[in-house]
Amino acid sequence: MSTRSLVIALRVIGVVLLVSAVVVGVLTGSIRGLVISVLGSISTVVVYFALAAILENQEYVLEYISGELGRLEKRLKSYIRTGDKVCERCNSSYDPSYSYCPNCGYRNVPPSAS
Ligand SMILES: [Zn+2]
Repeated sequence: MSTRSLVIALRVIGVVLLVSAVVVGVLTGSIRGLVISVLGSISTVVVYFALAAILENQEYVLEYISGELGRLEKRLKSYIRTGDKVCERCNSSYDPSYSYCPNCGYRNVPPSAS
């Protein structure tokens, strides 16, 4: 099960729990029964929604990291293969004797610079 479908499942379960708590509360026939039923379910529903939010955030962070790693890998591979620099801004490769990107003018920090 992917994270995305797990997040959806957790939210659906949360909504179903809340709706069933309202239904059960209404079926008791009293306002007190309704309030007790809804309040009783809320702590559980909050946990489901919080878990969904945490998972969603975790997935976003992982996607961001893997995207950054992919870009870094691409630049490294190009650098190793051709010795050319790859622009951090526009991703075009150019001769390493240039101190700036001839395509967009961005001044890249060379990998050897400390
Ligand atoms: Zn550039």
